[in-house]
Amino acid sequence: MREAVFAELARHDRPASAYDIADNLSRLRGRRVAPNSVYRILDLFVANNLALRVESANAFLANSHPGCEHDCIFLVCDECGEATHVDDDEIAEMIRKIAQSHGFKPERPVIEVRGLCQGCAG
Ligand SMILES: [Zn+2]
Ligand SMILES: [Zn+2]
Repeated sequence: MREAVFAELARHDRPASAYDIADNLSRLRGRRVAPNSVYRILDLFVANNLALRVESANAFLANSHPGCEHDCIFLVCDECGEATHVDDDEIAEMIRKIAQSHGFKPERPVIEVRGLCQGCAG
């Protein structure tokens, strides 16, 4: 089941929700796959850095750099849902420092910019 969920996730070039993946798997397997069990597996992937969660879209992407720990930055298109993945450790570090300066322990910064991708901004 984990393998099937990962294969399905990796097939998407845009963030996929647990519902999208459960729907596709249900069709592939000819029996209903519950979104909840897909969700649990996706959370496990995120915990193991195999997948990234795009919070503002409540969706997931296969992690293209599972070997390194980044606070990933996503540019998420409101129109087509494409999420462009960029890394900028200076910005991430700055955000962590701001949090710490407020006595806050940053565990998981979420850095997402909503807007229009190049194709949709036309
Ligand atoms: Zn990243
Ligand atoms: Zn777009």
